Amino acid sequence: PVVLGIESSCDETGAGIVRDGKLLAHVVASSMEEHARFGGVVPEIAARAHLHAFNPVVRQALDQAGLRIGQLDAVAVTTGPGLSGALQVGLAGAKTLAYAAGAPLYGVHHLAGHVAADTLEHGPLPDPCVVLIVSGGHTSLLLVRDLVREPILHLGDTLDDAAGECFDKVARILGLPYPGGPAIDRAARAGSPKAAAFPRPLTRPGDDPYAFSFSGLKTAAARWVERHRLRGEEVPVADGAAALQEAVADVLTRKAVAACTAYDVKTLVVVGGVAANSRVRALAERRCASVGIELRVPPMTLCTDNGAMIAAVGDLLVRSGAEPAPLDVSIDPSAPLAYASLTPLARPA
Ligand code: ATP
Ligand code: MG
Ligand code: FE
Repeated sequence: PVVLGIESSCDETGAGIVRDGKLLAHVVASSMEEHARFGGVVPEIAARAHLHAFNPVVRQALDQAGLRIGQLDAVAVTTGPGLSGALQVGLAGAKTLAYAAGAPLYGVHHLAGHVAADTLEHGPLPDPCVVLIVSGGHTSLLLVRDLVREPILHLGDTLDDAAGECFDKVARILGLPYPGGPAIDRAARAGSPKAAAFPRPLTRPGDDPYAFSFSGLKTAAARWVERHRLRGEEVPVADGAAALQEAVADVLTRKAVAACTAYDVKTLVVVGGVAANSRVRALAERRCASVGIELRVPPMTLCTDNGAMIAAVGDLLVRSGAEPAPLDVSIDPSAPLAYASLTPLARPA
């Protein structure tokens, strides 16, 4: 089937088109710059930006694919989790498009989208696989079987901040621009990861092997900056960035590989915005290779929020014979991960 996917859960308006697992169009407009001076996403600004971007982004996606609205077999849209106002805009738009196309509408869990992004580059996911989702709002280890048919087994989560949030907050402490992840990645190239001894939270024997904690890293980074300032020294920002990035990448990849080993799973999939991090990618590569695990990471442009990943889930839903959503389906801003594999309809009320 030809499926249009719409994403608007945060600050990216995305439209993507997928036909039978193949990517035909991938267009994203971001309101990131409008939020930069506030140091984080402002929900009201994001919602308004989606309203402005929606039509042009969809238009461009159809042009890229060389398709007319009437040629769509289904429309898929993120129903949650995410910012309410932002989700509302995408859902309203998607309903209109589905109606115009005479095509069924499918509600998609944003995190199922992040997982499915990888299939657009590397083909169907093996069953089972371990998935590490690392984004601005989530840090979770999952055991995934069939993404749209089987419940996802949730191995662990962050107890406090998400990895992306940690990058964003530490970047601010180091005086780097928003969003912090890419800024730290760039700055770290000129620094030494050994310059600061940042902690590796929850990695002691007896700690939950699949839980994460990143808020302590933020405090450690703040103290480290403070120590330099008190001594009247210039803060070695590149070193701080490299050491922070190393600590995060170390913990993430260590736990992800441990999960694969414990569950005897041969494939690790790393998805979400932080999967774009060069050190996370390199360390995951090395650690997986050393124990014979296949590593799959989507290309960078499919790691951060986009509509193509939502179309990818829609395509899987159509092919699995899932029920479409009714036209009065609602957003689900706090949709739990436990139901990520199911359509909103299938989530027990
Ligand atoms: P969620 O998917 O949990 O709802 P989100 O959609 O805001 O959150 P994404 O768009 O997947 O998250 O990812 C954004 C996050 O990824 C930000 O925190 C950003 O700093 C981080 N990020 C992006 N590129 C990099 C990078 N190269 N290194 C580290 N972090 C990065
Ligand atoms: Mg974003
Ligand atoms: Fe996301």
